[in-house]
Amino acid sequence: MASELEPEVQALDRSLLECSAEETAGKWLQATDLTREVYQHLAHYVPKIYCRGPNPFPQKEDMLAHQVLLGPMEWYLCGEDPELGFSKLEQTNKPSHLCGRVFKVGEPTYSCRDCAVDPTCVLCMECFLGSIHRDHRYRMTTSGGGGFCDCGDTEAWKEGPHCQKHELNTYETEEEEDPLVHLSEDVIARTYNIFAIMFQYAVEILTWEKESELPPDLEMIEKSDTYYCMLFNDEVHTYEQVIYTLQKAVNCTQKEAIGFATTVDRDGRRSVRYGEFQYCEQAKSIIVRNTSRQTKPLKVQVMHSSIVAHQNFGLKVLSWLGSIIGYSDGLRRILCQVGLQEGPDGENSSLVDRLMLSDSKLWKGARSVYHQLFMSSLLMDLKYKKLFAVRFAKNYERLQSDYVTDDHDREFSIADFSVQIFTVPSLARMLITEENLMTIIIKTFMDHLRHRDVQGRFQFERYTALQAFKFRRVQSLILDLKYVLISKPTEWSDGLRQKFLEGFDAFLELLKCMQGMDPITRQVGQHIEMEPEWEAAFTLQMKLTHVISMIQDWCALDEKVLIEAYKKCLAVLTQCHGGFTDGEQPVTLSICGHSVETIRYCVSKEKVSIHLPVSRLLAGLHVLLSKSEVAYKFPELLPLSELSPPMLIEHPLRCLVLCAQVHAGMWRRNGFSLVNQIYYYHNVKCRREMFDKDIVMLQTGVSMMDPNHFLMIMLSRFELYQIFSTPDYGKKISSETPHKDLVQQNNTLIEEMLYLIIMLVGERFSPGVGQVNATDEIKREIIHQLSIKPMAHSELVKSLPEDENKETGMESVIEAVAHFKKPGLTGRGMYELKPECAKEFNLYFYHFSRAEQSKAEEAQRKLKRQNKEDTALPPPVLPPFCPLFASLVNILQSDVMLLIMRTVLQWTVEHSGHIWSESMLQRVLHLIGMALQEEKQHLENVMEEHVITFTFTQKISKPGEAPNNSPSILAMLETLQNAPYLEVHKDMIKWILKTFNAIKKLRESSSTSPVAETEGTIMEESSRDKDKAERKRKAEIARLRREKIMAQMSEMQRHFIDENKELFQQTLELDSSVSAVLDNGPVVSDMTLTALGPAQTRVPEQRQCVTCILCQEEQEVNAESKAMVLAAFVQRSTVLSKDRSKFIQDPENYDPLFMHPDLSCGIHTGSCGHIMHAHCWQRYFDSVQAKEQRRQQRLRLHTSYDVENGEFLCPLCECLSNTVIPLLLPPRNVFHGLNFSDQPNLTQWIRTISQQIKALQVLRKEESTPITASSKNLENMDELHLPEGFRPDFHPKNPYSESIKEMLATFGTATYKVGLKVHPNEEDPRVPIMCWSSCAYTIQSIERILSDEDKPLFGPLPCRLDDCLRSLTRFAGAHWTVVSLSVVQGHFCKLFASLVPGDNHRDLPCILDIDMFHLLVGLVLAFPSLQCQDFSGISLGTGDLHIFHLVTMAHIVQILLTSCTEKSGMDQENAAGKEEELAVLALCKMIQQYTGSALKEMPSGWHLWRNVKAGIMPFLRCSALFFHYLNGVPSPPEIQASGTSHFEHLCNYLSLPNNLLCLFQENKEIMKLLIESWCHNIEVKRYLEGERDAISYPRESNKLIDLPEDYSSLINQASNFSCPKSGGDKSRAPTMCLVCGTLLCSQSYCCQTELEGEDVGACTAHTYSCGSGVGIFLRVRECQVLFLAGKTKGCFYSPPYLDDYGETDQGLRRGNPLHLCRERFKKIQKLWHQHSITEEIGHAQEANQTLVGIDWQHL
Ligand SMILES: [Zn+2]
Ligand SMILES: [Zn+2]
Ligand SMILES: [Zn+2]
Ligand SMILES: [Zn+2]
Ligand SMILES: [Zn+2]
Ligand SMILES: [Zn+2]
Ligand SMILES: [Zn+2]
Repeated sequence: MASELEPEVQALDRSLLECSAEETAGKWLQATDLTREVYQHLAHYVPKIYCRGPNPFPQKEDMLAHQVLLGPMEWYLCGEDPELGFSKLEQTNKPSHLCGRVFKVGEPTYSCRDCAVDPTCVLCMECFLGSIHRDHRYRMTTSGGGGFCDCGDTEAWKEGPHCQKHELNTYETEEEEDPLVHLSEDVIARTYNIFAIMFQYAVEILTWEKESELPPDLEMIEKSDTYYCMLFNDEVHTYEQVIYTLQKAVNCTQKEAIGFATTVDRDGRRSVRYGEFQYCEQAKSIIVRNTSRQTKPLKVQVMHSSIVAHQNFGLKVLSWLGSIIGYSDGLRRILCQVGLQEGPDGENSSLVDRLMLSDSKLWKGARSVYHQLFMSSLLMDLKYKKLFAVRFAKNYERLQSDYVTDDHDREFSIADFSVQIFTVPSLARMLITEENLMTIIIKTFMDHLRHRDVQGRFQFERYTALQAFKFRRVQSLILDLKYVLISKPTEWSDGLRQKFLEGFDAFLELLKCMQGMDPITRQVGQHIEMEPEWEAAFTLQMKLTHVISMIQDWCALDEKVLIEAYKKCLAVLTQCHGGFTDGEQPVTLSICGHSVETIRYCVSKEKVSIHLPVSRLLAGLHVLLSKSEVAYKFPELLPLSELSPPMLIEHPLRCLVLCAQVHAGMWRRNGFSLVNQIYYYHNVKCRREMFDKDIVMLQTGVSMMDPNHFLMIMLSRFELYQIFSTPDYGKKISSETPHKDLVQQNNTLIEEMLYLIIMLVGERFSPGVGQVNATDEIKREIIHQLSIKPMAHSELVKSLPEDENKETGMESVIEAVAHFKKPGLTGRGMYELKPECAKEFNLYFYHFSRAEQSKAEEAQRKLKRQNKEDTALPPPVLPPFCPLFASLVNILQSDVMLLIMRTVLQWTVEHSGHIWSESMLQRVLHLIGMALQEEKQHLENVMEEHVITFTFTQKISKPGEAPNNSPSILAMLETLQNAPYLEVHKDMIKWILKTFNAIKKLRESSSTSPVAETEGTIMEESSRDKDKAERKRKAEIARLRREKIMAQMSEMQRHFIDENKELFQQTLELDSSVSAVLDNGPVVSDMTLTALGPAQTRVPEQRQCVTCILCQEEQEVNAESKAMVLAAFVQRSTVLSKDRSKFIQDPENYDPLFMHPDLSCGIHTGSCGHIMHAHCWQRYFDSVQAKEQRRQQRLRLHTSYDVENGEFLCPLCECLSNTVIPLLLPPRNVFHGLNFSDQPNLTQWIRTISQQIKALQVLRKEESTPITASSKNLENMDELHLPEGFRPDFHPKNPYSESIKEMLATFGTATYKVGLKVHPNEEDPRVPIMCWSSCAYTIQSIERILSDEDKPLFGPLPCRLDDCLRSLTRFAGAHWTVVSLSVVQGHFCKLFASLVPGDNHRDLPCILDIDMFHLLVGLVLAFPSLQCQDFSGISLGTGDLHIFHLVTMAHIVQILLTSCTEKSGMDQENAAGKEEELAVLALCKMIQQYTGSALKEMPSGWHLWRNVKAGIMPFLRCSALFFHYLNGVPSPPEIQASGTSHFEHLCNYLSLPNNLLCLFQENKEIMKLLIESWCHNIEVKRYLEGERDAISYPRESNKLIDLPEDYSSLINQASNFSCPKSGGDKSRAPTMCLVCGTLLCSQSYCCQTELEGEDVGACTAHTYSCGSGVGIFLRVRECQVLFLAGKTKGCFYSPPYLDDYGETDQGLRRGNPLHLCRERFKKIQKLWHQHSITEEIGHAQEANQTLVGIDWQHL
């Protein structure tokens, strides 16, 4: 189909290309009716360019559109070649001093916390880096797209509005200059003409609603008959639904469907079918039918292709306009003018209005294009910004209503422009004053919440889904209100006052609808059936919290406004309480001779509501009055006389009583919704305008009342009046033995009531209530938070209320109250309370939750004990009240209060029944303490001749009145002081008595007023002294004993933890002090140690006993006994890879015999080092398997390990494992003793081996030829005359027990299975190769780690590593015994042939392409298979030595061939090295000779020798490890210490000459031949001629990529990254591979690929190529490290970026600047180097089961 269309399109192109822009423009300049002319042109050409087939061709369309359509317009506009014209315009352009950069999704934005007027003021990265704010406190976020940089906007910044770049564009003259003065009349006129026509055209066509008919001016004569089936975006249907439906409806593949769905989601619409009307209509009906089961079907239209063509061009026009006005501010001004000019239809007919008003009807793509145009035109022109703001405000109601019913997110709605307009202070003020914006917003909001109850209050119960949806969207209006109010006026005009108060009225109306909403009644008997809806009301409250605070802030700025607002608020509150005292008869309460009338009301029986915003607003205003002193200056202006204190306190009191009753368990049957409401009422997010204000309102009311009256009313509301008004209630109760629950309930209520009194008197830290400022308030909050425990910055921030600018004010005071402790390698930085602040601690701080209170109490007492102080926590000294609240202190000395205190103390003294509690007593003691502090303060601050009215000490010294005749409070305290059951409170009572005496002294000295004689009671003390001292001593002994026991217990606990730490956390921490002693037990001191060869140091046989972790039985390790195994984990690895693009293509036919030096596909084996019996492990594994199968059937749950793949967790440490390694003794000692008799030299040995190989090969050939030819058999045998002593028919006996053999096979198969990712097959000849390879690779990787960390080669290794290497090497050495001899011999022959060419192997790799260490390991471990048939007396050791020497020489040649021959001018003279230098030069010359003239430059000998030494070190170190573990020869002590490179020691240990070149000289003849054969290889030639690359030595260690210091540069980098598959789309979850640095488009449909038959995300796909299934990523938007392993395993890991407070910010929620922490990054790199990623994931998943359920493969 496509091929048929092509020629047609091609043909059209040519005719179009002939159209000349200049000519057309010329025609237009002559035209009389320009509009008609242009429209005709468009009508003719647009359908010829756009929409010519089912799929758009954007590049071709753009090219043609520019040529045929836009070109003429540009010519017309300029009147000359636009290239010239526009550059002229640019020259006169006054560049904007606004940046105005529109943010892309994910782009970093910065806001200065010091200078931004509000948090919506942001800078782009470029401006930020060039601004003064980079040194301020700033916050970083990622943009959600839309919005622009505020650089240059003087209203947005208190300081530094311009960055360096935009500073240049500000001119001396501040006043506005008309930008048009720079343009010629002609240009202005033509621009005006063409802008008007084109803007009009675009608006008309985009808002066109007919589906098959064009506007008359654009109708064509010859109309094609093609249609599009256009699918539109909505937010109801999911991706999956759309994809599924499309596959059905238009018969496309899943891939195409994904493509369609992605475009629909991005652009808002996409044609899914092209053709005749019926054909499209059919698709439409299927889509509609298939999606109508949801709330509404997907929107689909069948549109005529020419309409779609014009709409596409309309969008093009808008972006064209946007780019044209970039040339000149004059053009921009003209466009603004055109856009805002009122059309023929009057109001709302300007183009801008028309676009705005049809916003919700447009598709996403169209919206974003015109929004962008608005931003670059209207919002960039100061004059028109204002006019546009007015249009926006006038249309506000309509736009918001459209938005509420529209289903697109707000960022795609024009309504979202409010943030751009309302946050500009001058515009906001203008709109309030002139357009009454505040009222409009509130009214619009109210209009959308019409559902009310009979009292006119909001009702959210029984909301339909649609109403709930609307409610969610309408909340954005509150945000608009916040924007308008966010910057407070500096001066008030009368107009502003008037409109603000008008808005205030509207706001009160809103609050009135909330006052008393969601009322609740206590449920008795049955539990409620359905939890009532409560969240909506709280959502509203929460969203309004800042607005309420801001409105108060506004009021505070102007006295007139404040007074008016106060009056209005009071009036509304009175309305709300209308009928408050009506109805029932009041009741009279009387105690202690005081009496008061109050209404009959019971919280537990009648309706009560938590929502009282009007009362709370009044409380807020009252405090402002108190603070601003208006109340004292103009009391006549205030309606203070209208205030009825009982009315003010009534509702807040009910609310607090409700909380107390809930706490007392009286509302249990009302379910969780109530518990949640109470929680939020106190929560930091709400409390400022809820709980806090209720306390203030009570304080307000009480300060105007007789405290006795208040206390009586309070007792009555708490339903405790009976208890305290009945004398001897306590005795009665205990004699009656009532219901225990009821007593408990009353006790709690009494405790709560006492707590409330403490708060009313003690909470004076709001400015206006007490004489404090805002700093004191925040300091106090922080002190109390830190009294609970030291906290991280973010924790502390979370516990403090944020203002509308998201600030807590914490930074300014934190230094004064806390010390900062930096974090270590894990954990966070912490703030600790300064010790001197502890005295400000108040146990009854009103923002403590109960749990916090008890934690704080415990912490503070502990602290005091540590400081050897008494443990009393007396109330702190408080600041004085403001005058309006001053009378509150009298509560403490009121008669009713004293009665309450006395009663509680009396109960305590009687100490009988259940009617008192320690908490109750503790609160009473606290209240007494507060009163004493108060009196002391009064005395200390008293002025001359002032009468002290606070006489608490006097009152508590008096005994109770008749009829009780109880002792005085003081006397009771003295009694209680020694009560054995009050041990905890003893110190507090002591403190009270001490303070009492201090006050008495003060009074005496000031003698202001007489103090009642109290000595009597004090004197009694001496008589009881003795008695008391004895008791005290006993108590002290008891205390000491208790403490000792506690200490012992905690000591035991610590031991337990320590022990288990060692057990469970034996990590690969190489620097750890784990003192694993290598098994160099036999001291072989005065002797050079040799690891291999005939001279190998003899090590006495050692007995090794180990314990099975499963059955705890001991067992000796030897060849004949039952196998012992180590839990092990085998994995593929690319950690050492030098070529990440390589991976095993065809595992079934892959030949792993030779490892390439790029080490690209390695197999790593690790172990936790825990040992088990093979049979114990087998039993354990079987049970795990069985359990897992049952579990999967039952729960379909995943686990952190994959049993089907042989995975299990180590039974001791839960480390992920997938096989076991058998423990063995050095395998070589099992076979042969060492033999020192006459051994062949290298040349002889090679000859012998070659002969043996030849013999074997002949034999093999014969075996494979048919038997009929067996006659020839003998003949051949003769021909080849078997080498002396070689007996190829001999088969040695396997020395191992059955159980060990079985384990050898098990581990071998596992390595094979994992390494090649194939099905297990014991018989596969590649099994032994994989075992050797894993051994070699693991040794190499550990050698790298040691070298990177400058650790000695044989230093103390952690046990698990040491055990693992030993077992792995010995296993690999023994594995050949369970494989067919001929297979191993075959491998040996082939490996051998790579160095010593034979006849049979042709296509072997050249020495440049062989990793020599892998080759060495393979040769050495395969050699016994040949040697065991050799009875000529050549020892195994001799073979090892010759193999090692041969490989070493090959490696030297390899190094010389590949060492970069950079010239070094100065030759270092080094006499000691002379001999080596000459030798290496000679060797080099020889190589040169064999390779021809290719190696031209000859570097100095010194240089070459240095290269050889450096290049061969890793090989020597690996070899030393290998032979050490294989043969069990202890390592020389020198290499156990770190320091120099130990080259000589290594050579000695490995039986090498210190001058490695001697090897060549000793074996001159044969080496000549071999080197020649190596150099003659074609690959070597190609390399030397520069046709290919080769690895050079030493190979550098791989590192994770370099990360930038500043996290925002990563965000920036990621924001420039677009999805590689969906053409320039921004990626939603850009994720960076930390191994190779590739950015991926993660977690997204667009980049899913198929892997082994499953769809996987970009990250999982990447792990397969980059990390052999293991990956380390950084999710850039989330600032989170992601570990992946395979398809099912993954976890998140803490990122290496920290803020200044030593905390990470996963999810970038806090936005503090983040900087790279190198130590933490190194730790991640170490995990990678150690191959511990999979293990880390396993541990994370075991610890957090939710991680198991995540679909990691989709990331
Ligand atoms: Zn900028
Ligand atoms: Zn700037
Ligand atoms: Zn700043
Ligand atoms: Zn066992
Ligand atoms: Zn373990
Ligand atoms: Zn993508
Ligand atoms: Zn990668």
